[in-house]
Amino acid sequence: MKYLIPKEVASVLKTLTQAGHEAYIVGGSVRDLLREKPPKDWDATTNAKPEEIITLFPDSFYENDFGTVGVKVDPFLPHGKEGREHDIIEVTTYRTESSYTDRRRPDTITFANTLTEDLARRDFTINALAMDVYGEIIDPYNGLSDLKNGMLRAVGDANERFNEDALRMMRAVRLSAEMNFMIEKATHDAIITNAALIQHVSMERIRDEFSRVVMSEHVRSGIETLSGAGLLQHFLPELEDGIDVEQNHHHTFTVWEHNLRSCETCPSTKLSVKLAALMHDIGKPESKRGTGRNATFYNHEYIGERITRKALKRLTFPKKVVDHASLLVRNHMFYYSVDEVTEAAVRRVIKKVGLENMKDLMDIRIGDRLGSGTKKAKPYKLRHFEYMIDKVSNDPVNVKMLKLNGDIMIRDMGFKPGPQIGAILDALLADVIEDPSLNTLEILQEKARVLQDQELSAIRTQAKEKIASKQKEDDQKMRGKHWVK
Ligand code: ATP
Ligand code: MG
Repeated sequence: MKYLIPKEVASVLKTLTQAGHEAYIVGGSVRDLLREKPPKDWDATTNAKPEEIITLFPDSFYENDFGTVGVKVDPFLPHGKEGREHDIIEVTTYRTESSYTDRRRPDTITFANTLTEDLARRDFTINALAMDVYGEIIDPYNGLSDLKNGMLRAVGDANERFNEDALRMMRAVRLSAEMNFMIEKATHDAIITNAALIQHVSMERIRDEFSRVVMSEHVRSGIETLSGAGLLQHFLPELEDGIDVEQNHHHTFTVWEHNLRSCETCPSTKLSVKLAALMHDIGKPESKRGTGRNATFYNHEYIGERITRKALKRLTFPKKVVDHASLLVRNHMFYYSVDEVTEAAVRRVIKKVGLENMKDLMDIRIGDRLGSGTKKAKPYKLRHFEYMIDKVSNDPVNVKMLKLNGDIMIRDMGFKPGPQIGAILDALLADVIEDPSLNTLEILQEKARVLQDQELSAIRTQAKEKIASKQKEDDQKMRGKHWVK
């Protein structure tokens, strides 16, 4: 076997062939296998009819109206959810697709007799490859050569194919952005010709392909292609408002270029954060005042938040994604300077944005910086900000950490309110710093009773020194963690 087909998949193919049918893996799974990337899902194709497939796999079920059968196998996909009971291999009967009156879905499903006919209905040559269980490749459209040359080419006449199903234009750009492939000229020309047909495709399907462009390694060229071919204007025209909008002396790039670059360099793996990076300056065209080196963009983050929210809603992103991205756009301008910003100011930012969002906000800032052409992703300033966040969100050692407190001492142990309580607690904290296992109510009560009759001023002075030195040590550790002085 030339390429490794997982045993779960091989066993499905074998069950079909042993029953006298033809069976191949097909489409994206073959493409990814040949590129030595783990396929996201495994699709099989066969001349067996859906009823025959179901009979061979008693645990299987109809997946949709297109005659696809889902066959359950033991979990084997690398990206699956932990603890799931099975993975699904989609087995689809050979078919051709005839007419698409609504340009969304084929009107009827016609089964085909041969693999070659089935491959002819597939969108791109690199997706029209099949492989049998022995690793033999079937390649009627020269997909292998396109795969080798990094070329995305429609199967057959590109114009016709995009007319049948306009989503294929989005898939072309998405696949090229994910794999860093060129879109072949005739295919690219056909996208330009047919771009307006994308309006017939449901927003959900556009959203899913667009999300994958945004998450892809080559998002900048992906979105440039979407725009240049005339697709983007139909679902995210607001982003294009930044084209040719010059900024001021702080920036070398136009608003459009900067948004795209920021998204590409934003290190986050979350969709909402990548979307926020892409849209963080989307309010700049509307807020721009003045020209040239001294142009200003006051309040662009608030205008940007409104535009982001509206656009992402239209794109049918879930509320959680819309809210999170909008929050990050609104707050991306937080000011930070090592010498000027106080702990209280950092606390205010955390309160406004939420501690759980600080990492995401930082990722936006990193993208923002790198996307301006600055070299350092995380300068001293950002590291210092991270240190401050850590510091103000983690209380330093203090007597509140003790299992014993003044209330208990007065209520249950007969202590009188007064300075003695504070002195004892300080002494106890000094002990707990040395040995954290002493921090139980029982032990501390016992120790407090012993200390009750002692002269405390010397003990307290010593304890205070110990607490201060522990606080300093913790702070040094935290500074070390963030590489700040
Ligand atoms: P990935 O799994 O990485 O998203 P993929 O190409 O495998 O990419 P799927 O949606 O899994 O995408 O589709 C599997 C196969 O079905 C494709 O490789 C292609 O052969 C075919 N296909 C999918 N969508 C279309 C379409 N709109 N038009 C024609 N063929 C399609
Ligand atoms: Mg796939």
